[in-house]
Amino acid sequence: MKNTVTPDFKHIGGKLLIWYGKNARDLPFRQTKDPYKIWICEIVFQQTRISQGLGHYTNFTERFPDVKTLAEADENEVLLYWKGLGYYSRAINVHKAAQQIMNDYDGIFPGEYEEILKLKGVGKYTAAAVSSICFNGKIPAVDGNFYRVLSRVFADDFDVSSSRAFNYFSDLAHLILPDNVGDFNQAMMDLGSEVCKPKNPLCGECPLNQDCIAFLTNKIYNFPVKTKKVKAEGLELKYYFVHRNGEFLIQQRKDDFIWKKLFEFPPQISDELLPFIKSVKTVHHKLTHKNLSIEIYNVEVDSEEAWNNFIAENDYMISDYESSHQKSFPKPLENYIGNYHTAYRIL
Ligand code: SF4
Repeated sequence: MKNTVTPDFKHIGGKLLIWYGKNARDLPFRQTKDPYKIWICEIVFQQTRISQGLGHYTNFTERFPDVKTLAEADENEVLLYWKGLGYYSRAINVHKAAQQIMNDYDGIFPGEYEEILKLKGVGKYTAAAVSSICFNGKIPAVDGNFYRVLSRVFADDFDVSSSRAFNYFSDLAHLILPDNVGDFNQAMMDLGSEVCKPKNPLCGECPLNQDCIAFLTNKIYNFPVKTKKVKAEGLELKYYFVHRNGEFLIQQRKDDFIWKKLFEFPPQISDELLPFIKSVKTVHHKLTHKNLSIEIYNVEVDSEEAWNNFIAENDYMISDYESSHQKSFPKPLENYIGNYHTAYRIL
């Protein structure tokens, strides 16, 4: 830790709280201390911008207003209500965690940081956020906002891509932590996304501009320091859109790799169906650490016998355009179904 950081910096947390008192964003989950709602909100907004995820958050919590309702829901319905948010493993995890709360905690949301951390899919950031906002816990919810704000305020060149960054910035945050850690965590979230933005931070409006070493020394863009870039890995996939008379074949993914539990088209076909391939389209799609290249073959089966044989040999389900809305597909396949429907109006 740099010796520029001294207990004097405690006043920074206080300044942030005063600023938050006047500038907190008026968001629906700010009106509650219900740990269930705060937990869902933290998971929903982990990889989704607030403006994009707000409607989904509201729909999800209206349909599943408490732990019990979520725990008792069918997994496919939970996935359906997660539609549009992506990263579906988060939906599977919140469903499992709700069941965990019913089974291990008699349906009462645990209040201790260590217990919250035991819930499926909950990491240190989410556990700290829920425990501080709802149970007066004293742990900073350190995320990318903390890294950016703290490294600029202290002009600290600790590498945020290092595996030790989380512990390092947690220690740094403790030095400025006020008593009200729940509000402090939310203030850092707002400051990081509204003021101390990665590009063009609004330093003139920032409550910390008289303390921020990077600003005072005109070195804002030197921080945060990030040396490692995660290189996206290329991945090729192949699907067959096997259809006949407005119906097409699907299955639910079982493997843990990507898109677990979502629906997909058959990844292979029998030799008997090869003559029915009409065209192929290549779709490119980015996931966090993967660049996907997906070939989708349009297999228009005009033989009832071949269609029946293929269904009999495999375990595929039959869907149509309307019923596909009741299931969650990976975005590229959902788009394919939509485009096909628009182009041909036969599904
Ligand atoms: S003064 Fe600028 S760089 Fe420093 S914390 Fe505020 S917004 Fe960020």
